[in-house]
Amino acid sequence: MKNSPIPVEIVSIVETIEKAGFEAYLVGGCARDIFLGRAPKDWDITTNATPEQIQTLFPKTVYENIYGTVAVINEATEDPTLRNVEVTPYRLESDYTDRRHPDHVKFSDKLEDDLQRRDFTINAIALSLSNGAIKDMVDLFGGLSDIKDKIIRTVGDPQARFGEDALRMMRAVRLSVELGFTIEPDTFKAIQGLNTNLKDISTERIRDEFAKLIMSPEPKKGIEILNETRLLDHIAPELQVAIGVGQNQAHAFDVWEHLLRSLQHAADKSWDLDIRLSALFHDISKPKTRGLSRETGIITFYGHEVIGSRETRKILTRLKFPVKTIEKVTKLIRWHMFFSDTEQITLSAVRRMIVNVGRENIWELMNLRICDRIGTGRPKEDPYRLRKYHAMIEEALRDPISLAMLKIDGKGVMEACNIPPSAKIGYILHALFNEVIEDPKLNTKEYLSEKAIELSQISDDKLKEIGEMGKEKKEEEDLKQIKEIQKKHRVS
Ligand code: ATP
Ligand code: MG
Repeated sequence: MKNSPIPVEIVSIVETIEKAGFEAYLVGGCARDIFLGRAPKDWDITTNATPEQIQTLFPKTVYENIYGTVAVINEATEDPTLRNVEVTPYRLESDYTDRRHPDHVKFSDKLEDDLQRRDFTINAIALSLSNGAIKDMVDLFGGLSDIKDKIIRTVGDPQARFGEDALRMMRAVRLSVELGFTIEPDTFKAIQGLNTNLKDISTERIRDEFAKLIMSPEPKKGIEILNETRLLDHIAPELQVAIGVGQNQAHAFDVWEHLLRSLQHAADKSWDLDIRLSALFHDISKPKTRGLSRETGIITFYGHEVIGSRETRKILTRLKFPVKTIEKVTKLIRWHMFFSDTEQITLSAVRRMIVNVGRENIWELMNLRICDRIGTGRPKEDPYRLRKYHAMIEEALRDPISLAMLKIDGKGVMEACNIPPSAKIGYILHALFNEVIEDPKLNTKEYLSEKAIELSQISDDKLKEIGEMGKEKKEEEDLKQIKEIQKKHRVS
């Protein structure tokens, strides 16, 4: 610890507490991260002062919760990790009858008690400061040696510690992939034995740990450990169904391995949570749509993107992900087959796809397709072809891709055709839109007025049909169509 990495804001909080005659230590993730040379995500300070005493020492604080934590607020800094620093009195571990909440929080005047109640040895190191640098380290459980050996080990008996708070099992897995550490064998076995306790944990806490695991540099490994420990049984058992489900020639791997590799590629690219979740779940319904064409003997997955999008909605809703995330991920999955069928990709098809998936999602659809391809074990896409797709998307984005971008509106149609308001106007607009999507040059007031007059002669039913062609189909219709395809190809 030659060069002190401790920000002055933190030093000042510690000194303020000490000047008032109390002890103050850096503890938990920040102490661990300092030894790892990582930037801490947040700073935690532990002290023998009571919450009331802490509050009197700082101009602005928020007394947060039943655990006695006082957040010291510093509005002068831009750094989000320093704006809100948690100072918590030494606490004793207490009984957890519900496996998630201590029955009552007991404060202590001994640092040892506080370190003892922490989850893992690497998180149970306390650091004292002097002149802005680290003075002493209190490491009662061999945390530093576990940091050096890259090991996650509970403080004390793993069975007991996971019995108190089942979320710690997920924290163990999440930290292991975030830090690139291994879970110590007894700790690992205890998780395997106690995995069902996860049922007692609130969905929100599970979701947050799951999302952090997905956002780690090694989400593939993370999901594999969740599976080995059977924690996955209580998070997304739908994924386990993909284990051993074989695919056709284009794929080197079963569906499970393919999904995990796709996810891993999204992580390797540092892509965001939405794309990572899309990659993880994009083929989730392959197991249930798997068929064997009796004519060709080829394995098929007709409609897996439609059913998979629905199934993913169920999973993410159950896990209480935000609606925005769910909407985006399910849309990407619904259309994920688009960029894989090279013959399908014409400029007008790209325009249609932008209508389906949304302007704001089209690039991510492309990224999902990149994950999907890498996930098959095949080499990267020919860069020439990727550039071509890029150029097509860019060009398509310049063209009209919504009804509002037509050079004629409902009023214009009524005037041109001299007809009163009715459903017919809408049908005509959709039919015009379809033409313009095929050929954006047709988007002129003159052409569209003339064409509207022509269309107004057609019967409503026929017109409706023409207009529907480019519209996103209702899910029910999609599903009906899938059944028909399966019948036609006599898939069993
Ligand atoms: P991160 O880098 O994600 O912030 P962290 O280890 O700092 O990781 P926090 O959630 O910030 O995790 O918790 C701070 C500290 O509080 C931990 O390092 C650990 O000492 C303790 N802690 C957190 N959750 C638990 C728990 N469920 N049981 C016991 N101790 C816990
Ligand atoms: Mg932390």
